[in-house]
Amino acid sequence: MPDCLFCKVAAGQIPAAVVKRGDGMLAFKDINPQAPTHLLVIPTIHVASLNEARDASVLGAMLTFARDLAQEQGIAQRGYRVVLNTNPDGGQTVLHLHLHLLGGRPMTWPPG
Ligand code: 5GP
Ligand code: ZN
Repeated sequence: MPDCLFCKVAAGQIPAAVVKRGDGMLAFKDINPQAPTHLLVIPTIHVASLNEARDASVLGAMLTFARDLAQEQGIAQRGYRVVLNTNPDGGQTVLHLHLHLLGGRPMTWPPG
């Protein structure tokens, strides 16, 4: 998708602090971190949001990728949060499907 920010990150056209790549997924540091560990996991193919996701294997791959990443980042044991914002009320600002992986501090509930 030509004008999509995260498609450009996936293509290497916009610089990002990439931490893991594989299985059609890419993880990179959020530019505005909300926790000591704040990574974004995206499919390298363009999917606008969870509403548009038709391939369950992509969704499964995102979750297992995030879980493995949490282990590798050393936050799995203490715990972490995975967030998937969808559309305006969900707080989605970039219309390319992505998970937030947050950890390194205790999380609060309910979210804002
Ligand atoms: P959303 O609000 O759509 O769930 O999350 C989008 C996230 O992308 C935000 O946390 C924001 O800080 C991050 N973000 C926006 N633009 C960029 C960018 O150019 N590079 C990186 N690494 N993160 C970005
Ligand atoms: Zn995209």
